[in-house]
Amino acid sequence: MIDIGANLTHKSFDHDIDAVIQRSLDVGIEKIIVTVSSIQDTKKAIELTDQYPNVLWATAGVHPHNAKTAEEQTEIMLKQLLAHQKIVAVGEIGLDYCRNFSEPKEQKKVFEIQLGVAAEKSLPVFLHQRDSHQDFVGILKDYKSSLTGGVAHCFTEGVKELKDYLDLGLYIGITGWLCDPRRNHNLIDSIKYIPIDRLLIETDSPYLLPKALEKELKTRRNEPCFLPHIAQAIAEYKKTDLAEVLLNTIQNSEKLFFRQKQ
Ligand SMILES: [Zn+2]
Repeated sequence: MIDIGANLTHKSFDHDIDAVIQRSLDVGIEKIIVTVSSIQDTKKAIELTDQYPNVLWATAGVHPHNAKTAEEQTEIMLKQLLAHQKIVAVGEIGLDYCRNFSEPKEQKKVFEIQLGVAAEKSLPVFLHQRDSHQDFVGILKDYKSSLTGGVAHCFTEGVKELKDYLDLGLYIGITGWLCDPRRNHNLIDSIKYIPIDRLLIETDSPYLLPKALEKELKTRRNEPCFLPHIAQAIAEYKKTDLAEVLLNTIQNSEKLFFRQKQ
């Protein structure tokens, strides 16, 4: 299995990252992409990939929440970091109008700069979107022909939004959101329309711990070792074999992120 999105630079992993990686390996996770939200974060992720060279890869980029703190130098710094051979995508990038930690105008500017860099460097994009579907799709349409591909990470929406993403050629990243009976209604409706050759799985650790595990565990921290729960839920809602989900999500991850890294 490949966890295409885990925020392992999060401080909640600082004290036991060794054990976290070991538990992932024990359940059959072969690769984890460490997703980041700032330039500083990217540097920390690169250090982690150096510590665990056979398991970890990383993204590089500035999350829309951090758009307001992005500096003039962001483009130059990003290009330098992308030269590191463990970086497999530009991300998390996108738009988030849910909490507007940064102004939409700033978010759009930083998003477009990074889409330009991804296109120039022929790297896929790891995309984040909340409450900004229209603007997000509008911008991506302009870049569609120059991008190498991308994933709409932590997809939680309905059939209409799904269709827009599929038309853009994007892969769809599914998280433990699917395992939350209070909020997964839209996603359950749309999951049957996600073609299996566009499906990816991710834990988004330390967030979005599958709900059923919350009672069992003493913590709410999610870890890559819980990825099988997401694959299982997808198999149930798509009415297909778990083996089919596992085989396809591995192949899709390899195709999108690792083709040039072999
Ligand atoms: Zn995100």
